Amino acid sequence: MAAMQLDFYVDKMKDLHFEIGPIRPPNEGGANSLLLRITRNCPWSRCAFCYGTPYGRQPFQIRRVDEIKREIDTIKLIVNVIDDINRALGGIDWVQSFIEAHFPFGENGHALQNFQCIINVLEWIRSGARTVFLQDADSLLMKTPQLLEILAYLKANFPSIERITSYARAKTLAIKTEEELAQLRKVGLSRLHIGLETGDDEILKLINKGITSSEHIEAAKKALRAGFEISEYVMPGIGGRSRWMRHALNTANALNEINPTFVRFRRFVPRPGTPLFNDWKEGRFQLLKPHELLLEIKTLIEHLQVNSRICFDHFINPAYRIGRKIVHLFSQDYSGYKFPEEKEKVLELIDYGLNIDEILWITTEELTKLPYI
Ligand code: SF4
Repeated sequence: MAAMQLDFYVDKMKDLHFEIGPIRPPNEGGANSLLLRITRNCPWSRCAFCYGTPYGRQPFQIRRVDEIKREIDTIKLIVNVIDDINRALGGIDWVQSFIEAHFPFGENGHALQNFQCIINVLEWIRSGARTVFLQDADSLLMKTPQLLEILAYLKANFPSIERITSYARAKTLAIKTEEELAQLRKVGLSRLHIGLETGDDEILKLINKGITSSEHIEAAKKALRAGFEISEYVMPGIGGRSRWMRHALNTANALNEINPTFVRFRRFVPRPGTPLFNDWKEGRFQLLKPHELLLEIKTLIEHLQVNSRICFDHFINPAYRIGRKIVHLFSQDYSGYKFPEEKEKVLELIDYGLNIDEILWITTEELTKLPYI
């Protein structure tokens, strides 16, 4: 292809960008979901283990519908340019090489944002343009008619979309009516990622989650009745050494009542800049040792009676060393283990883990030193 034509495509793409928020669930990364920022940051920012730090503790904002629709138009333009390059170069692999060679993402903030957007759309197309993740922490706080308008516009522009997912605070789900949720489900929003963390009311209060266990259960059941798939996030270790048993038992009870589509385990790792990090550093909170953590997870699993996928799809979950190699005890697969069928298998893995010398395990303290925790 002529150099002039290549320059034309580069110039065309350099002005195309849209907002991308800081985080998304790992499985949405695995699915190469398109990232569409509906709101900015977290409206609560008070959970003691998080404190809104993934969003830099910036104030929550609901973005304007016209602004988001314009960004959907931009995404469409990027898709069209990628199609043109694909046709000109004769293959999507060549498009990837072309983009990587022509977008020096280290240059400045604008270039980085531009590169992230182009790569996000390219990977999305390569995966069939099937899944979208709405950022940031609580998209459902947007008024339902506005969210419906955005979802309808997105689907009309990209009929290949099969799944649209979002984080949702249970407190926000509680204020949406079942009819509103059903409308959102009908127009394409299909899966909600919700942070239960623990089913124990005492711990929920201590971590300032802003909701009780029964409120959370009701909200999650309402979303399920409206037809959503839900991913419930639970946090082994969040009760510390003094409350591990009640954490395990009451979390199992809450999950049994909800019977979510997915349960996703995320070990508690103190995060700098949060109240719980300070509590740990100043001796008011004791982290579980590796075998104690496994015992807590075992207790929770033993009491689980759900028809759900149980997932450990994050590197912070239990792992040990064999020489220089790090081995995760559980599968990191995004679809996890099918319960109840694979419950025994998970319990056997935990017993296997309990027989591995504690010195070989990656401790929670070690994980706190990682820069991206
Ligand atoms: S609601 Fe979510 S994002 Fe907000 S502070 Fe709590 S855990 Fe963090």
